Amino acid sequence: MIFRNEMQVVIDPDAGFCFGVEASISLAEEHLRHVKKLYCLGELVHNEEEIDRLKKLGLMVIDYTQYEALHNETVLIRAHGEPPSTFETARKNNLNLINSTCPIVKKLQSRVFYADEEMLARDGQVLIYGKEQHPEVVGLMGQTNERAIIINSPSEVNKIDFTRKIHLFSQTTKDEAEYRMIQQIIGERIMASGGDPEQLLNVTRSVCKQVSNRIPGIKDFAKSHELIIFVAGKSSSNGKVLFNAASSVNPNTHFVSSVAELNKNWFKDIDTIGVTGATSTPSWLLKHVAGMIQQMD
Ligand code: SF4
Repeated sequence: MIFRNEMQVVIDPDAGFCFGVEASISLAEEHLRHVKKLYCLGELVHNEEEIDRLKKLGLMVIDYTQYEALHNETVLIRAHGEPPSTFETARKNNLNLINSTCPIVKKLQSRVFYADEEMLARDGQVLIYGKEQHPEVVGLMGQTNERAIIINSPSEVNKIDFTRKIHLFSQTTKDEAEYRMIQQIIGERIMASGGDPEQLLNVTRSVCKQVSNRIPGIKDFAKSHELIIFVAGKSSSNGKVLFNAASSVNPNTHFVSSVAELNKNWFKDIDTIGVTGATSTPSWLLKHVAGMIQQMD
């Protein structure tokens, strides 16, 4: 806990990286300690400040076009995982892959693969509740040869054929309550089409507990402070979920990605400030933000 005059600035003890991101970053750091050069396919973590820190150690973030052109190099596969085509390119181009796909994502990829086989055989559909182009969803789509249907909101359920079998999955960082709502909507539409959801709808609970379990904790933390500073990268999916959870119980919650976005007017007449963040927010950044608040006049 940091005291600024009579004001308290408290860092959420449960905030910081999830184990999947932590392991990915440790692998990158370990390699960079010895070799000082490592390619990473896509941003290792959805946090600009952490990426900048790793770039200074020698990490080079590349996109798919640059990856396709690379030969005889070492490339890190991040926690979000990759489609099979990425591994085929590595074989073709003699790339050495350091695969830090999170074990939870790996298991989900395998489930999606087998569900796709089953749905193909039974004229069914694999659905992924997630964001198109999110790296994890790209990896999951690759397990189905791009056959799966992506839905990101209730308005998109019209893409589904409610008379055929459905196996539904979620991107791991989606909101559990929204996922349940999507399941309910699909169930109702199946019934409206004359079918039985028990027969036609199979749901895999694939929201990661590292995200869903943090929601009650972050709500308690947000309730116990007058003002919350929520720190996350702008493109972090779980950042959006956790920020929404915090601001639902404490409207005086501000989203920042770096100390430069802090506004000292927020802290006038405030006695307790809580600092928290996403599962992709490094602890050092939370401490940095808390330290800067302390120094603000
Ligand atoms: S949020 Fe869960 S699934 Fe995603 S990287 Fe972290 S531990 Fe793995």
